[in-house]
Amino acid sequence: MPKTSSRQTNIAKNLMQIQHNISQYCEKYHRNPQDVHLLAVSKTKPTEDIRTAFKAGQVSFGENYLQESIDKINDLADLPIEWHFIGAIQSNKTREIAENFAWVHSVDRLKIAKRLSQQRADSLPPLNICLQINISHESSKSGFNIDDTEAAVNEIIKLPNLKLRGLMAIPAKADNFLEQRAIFSQMKTLLTKLQTQHTQLDTLSMGMSGDMEAAIAEGSTLLRIGTAIFGERNVAGL
Ligand SMILES: *Cc1c(COP(=O)(O)O)cnc(C)c1O
Repeated sequence: MPKTSSRQTNIAKNLMQIQHNISQYCEKYHRNPQDVHLLAVSKTKPTEDIRTAFKAGQVSFGENYLQESIDKINDLADLPIEWHFIGAIQSNKTREIAENFAWVHSVDRLKIAKRLSQQRADSLPPLNICLQINISHESSKSGFNIDDTEAAVNEIIKLPNLKLRGLMAIPAKADNFLEQRAIFSQMKTLLTKLQTQHTQLDTLSMGMSGDMEAAIAEGSTLLRIGTAIFGERNVAGL
């Protein structure tokens, strides 16, 4: 199928290009490339695309929609993929998330953290989590406010079946590079402050296809990239 194979070639090429860009930005901003991880965001994309990316060396994949992601996790059970949940969390869906993922980036309230810890099987390693920060103060977006984060961390760090790794943000769109950096810089400042008390925090989950460079410049350790790997999502609103 020529169509399928060119799609596969593109995914592999895009991954190489992004890894190349990451190294270049790391050099430019004096970052160690080993500290900047790539999460491939595969929401709305078929499992064949995930297989292709896996074959090209990509191991970590991020999904937003629970039912879609469970279907994919089952279809791809033959591959040792590390699955990350990055979407909005309904409190009645925490069990499936706790049972199926290695990471959750979008923990946006204490109640969700408590449920995930309760529902994570003792036989599994602790669930890695990041707290989502509402960094642009948008009423439409979920996440902790900066001022509430320290108190939340002090509670969540005690939960037995979670491993609190750091912070995540989805900033409001800013086309301007300096604006992007200014927002990400607030995330870096917040993490650095928390790290003085909690040295285990090692993750800043920030940077998407449109603001990767700014995120690396400001200390991102985990980029969540969808479009630049898999192409545009042709589902309205996603
Ligand atoms: C969709 C999504 C991404 C990837 O965005 P792209 O612009 O396609 O790279 C990253 N993070 C979250 C939380 C997302 O929902």
